[in-house]
Amino acid sequence: MSSPDKLIEGFRRFRKLHYITNDSLFRKLVQGQTPKVLVVACCDARVDPALVLDCAPGDLFVIRNVANLVPPAENRGHYQGTCSALEFGVRNLGIKHIIVLGHAQCGGIRALMEDGVAKDASFLAEWMGIARAAREKVNRELAGASYEVRRRACEQESVLGSLNNLMTFAWIREAVEQGELTLYGWYFDIEHGELLGYNSATGQFEAL
Ligand SMILES: [Zn+2]
Repeated sequence: MSSPDKLIEGFRRFRKLHYITNDSLFRKLVQGQTPKVLVVACCDARVDPALVLDCAPGDLFVIRNVANLVPPAENRGHYQGTCSALEFGVRNLGIKHIIVLGHAQCGGIRALMEDGVAKDASFLAEWMGIARAAREKVNRELAGASYEVRRRACEQESVLGSLNNLMTFAWIREAVEQGELTLYGWYFDIEHGELLGYNSATGQFEAL
């Protein structure tokens, strides 16, 4: 898959599948979207949530950004794409479940761990700063561990950081406290083909 022409061919197959042979789904979706699950996923080309979780069109409200990060609510910069999508999902669509989907071999986390994020005022350096606390915690608590172990731990710790940041939005915190919204930290292990979920009782990511 390297040229836009391939994508146009792909759209024709999609159209045949969903508009001609299975038109009931899209006839329904034309009336509006009613997803109940919001996923915050990475831009990584290997981590398409609808593909990995085998969902149909209309099932997921998806936010994708570098390293699947959620900034804290007090970050009041301009043009907050992730925050505005969260707000629309929770307040307008009535989302019931938010999944932060981390993954193995995350390039954003690797750059953070290796200090490979440009140190100037680049967009990426500022964005990855959201996960800096996760990196510091991992490097402190796993100081003697191998780089691979620390990187994987940082990929998972940053998911927990994003779950904490979700709770800094008043309309998310209130919905969670009222039992109307549930938050999940998941981790797609590309290397082993497994999906792990954070278990708050054990403090571990465990196979789902
Ligand atoms: Zn990633």
